[in-house]
Amino acid sequence: MKRAEELQAILRRIDHRGYPAYKDTAGSYQFGSYVLGIDHVQGDPFASPSKVSIRIDGAKAGFPAQMTGKKHTRIALADALIRRFGKEIERYSHQAKGSGKSGLISVSRPGQEVLERSALEISPDTGDLFIRLEIGFPANGRTINAGELEKILFRFLPECIRKSFYYQTADQKHLASVRELAEDQYYIRKELKEQRLAAFVADGSILPRESGISDRPMKQAVRFRTPDSMRVVFQLPNAGRIEGMGIPQGVTLIVGGGYHGKSTLLKALERGVYNHIAGDGREYVITDDTAVKIRAEDGRSIQHTDISMFINGLPNGKDTKAFRTEDASGSTSQAANVIEAMEAGTRLFLIDEDTSATNFMIRDELMARVVHQEMEPITPFIDRVEELYTAYGISTILVAGSCGSYFYKADHVIQMMQYEPEEITQRAREEAGRFADYAKDRPQLAASAHPMFNRCFARDQKAAQNDRMKVKGMGKDAVSIDRDTIELRYVEQLVDSEQTMALGYMVKYARQRLFDGKKDLQSVAELLEQIVEEKGIGSVCESRYLPCNLAVPRVQEIYACMNRCRALRI
Ligand code: ADP
Ligand code: MG
Repeated sequence: MKRAEELQAILRRIDHRGYPAYKDTAGSYQFGSYVLGIDHVQGDPFASPSKVSIRIDGAKAGFPAQMTGKKHTRIALADALIRRFGKEIERYSHQAKGSGKSGLISVSRPGQEVLERSALEISPDTGDLFIRLEIGFPANGRTINAGELEKILFRFLPECIRKSFYYQTADQKHLASVRELAEDQYYIRKELKEQRLAAFVADGSILPRESGISDRPMKQAVRFRTPDSMRVVFQLPNAGRIEGMGIPQGVTLIVGGGYHGKSTLLKALERGVYNHIAGDGREYVITDDTAVKIRAEDGRSIQHTDISMFINGLPNGKDTKAFRTEDASGSTSQAANVIEAMEAGTRLFLIDEDTSATNFMIRDELMARVVHQEMEPITPFIDRVEELYTAYGISTILVAGSCGSYFYKADHVIQMMQYEPEEITQRAREEAGRFADYAKDRPQLAASAHPMFNRCFARDQKAAQNDRMKVKGMGKDAVSIDRDTIELRYVEQLVDSEQTMALGYMVKYARQRLFDGKKDLQSVAELLEQIVEEKGIGSVCESRYLPCNLAVPRVQEIYACMNRCRALRI
């Protein structure tokens, strides 16, 4: 380890030289109470900015073990610190001038969700802080402007670090409230399981968002109001008594007229697998954290998925126990999404009629009479929804605006009326009883065979030998590994482009090191999860320095990404 003065000396020596001389600054430097690491130096002022890290001893940072000891509070603390640090450096970014990315200082920008990120890791044992950021090393044209970098590293950064990462001088009240919220959210998650609930939406929650492109709460929204018959009460460890709607496990239908807030409720439930920051409006919208949004996804690739629970006897004679296609239809894609979510260990499906394939969801009586069962490859979801709960323990929450058939299958029916829910289970049953029964006339279906989860993808010889495979993220929508693009636009519970990036690295790692023709997909996913849990998200990158822009995805999204990877072969 070098002293900070040595870095200063290097900077003065290389000033006005060609840009590559910046490479001499790489290394670690002791700066008073922290260590600055210059981990990777960009090749020119227009290249992706240099990677810089900061390490602070736990003893010096001084955050109480109550905040750093448990995983859920540690992640919440790290999230709060990144946000604070981000605000601080924002004021200094581009204060230092020059060409290209000169003077840029940037750190991960979390959205409304609280995620575990490589931008700031806190050691559970020592409380040490590891912060990772990017700095555009300043230049005029391609000539080093070391004076400007000295300004950043010796004036701006120390100031921001001092204000952000020491408990002594931090906003302790704010950090206490962050910890308390994390503890309360954790408590509700635990209680959901105990009380056999699929989800909880607190009274007063704000579900709608500001706009299609902003994830912030809508101003002047109608706040959530719990129907009395579904009211549950929790005694939170910190915030005390809280009331809200508990959605029991089983089959729940959300109905209501168009524009009355059905999809908005479902969207909030989809996001409820993550914790949200205070002020979001969904802090206490908590969903079973294995929940998976199921939708149609025309055009996706499917690699040997056993969709025979829903689809059999295709006219082209294709095997639906190991179904393969590079271009799935609406119904086959949705069937694969269901089966793959089961494989990924989900206990709750979230489905919106708006984004479903109709022929996958239902078949009405008249259609069943005209087109005989033998001519129809699809067993619609409605015929499996009860079985999925009774035989597999998987609940469903389904938004239906136009199709009443699900009334016969639902344990609970919620009607949204002007953004306010009402439970109408009883009335819906009575009405359904008066109707020609969907279920009565239909032949009793035999129970489905348990889907086979035994896909073993082959060793990827080419990938294993290629140590220069590049992972490139395209926002939340896709990630490419060399030339293979994995489409993730319709994996709707991916909420951050940093998760997408992390998934790219994980799939690359699996292709290079884990798939061997013997380990099945579940074992590989488990291994990936374990590696990240034990060694941190950065360990799947295998680069010399740890990327500053990764966020940990759920295991459900790890499966989703592997399942959409067209390069995998059996
Ligand atoms: P549906 O799925 O029933 O057709 P949506 O959930 O799409 O309805 O909601 C319709 C519109 O109403 C959306 O623009 C949404 O932002 C808005 N909205 C939803 N919930 C609320 C609410 N609680 N307060 C105010 N506006 C809302
Ligand atoms: Mg809708």
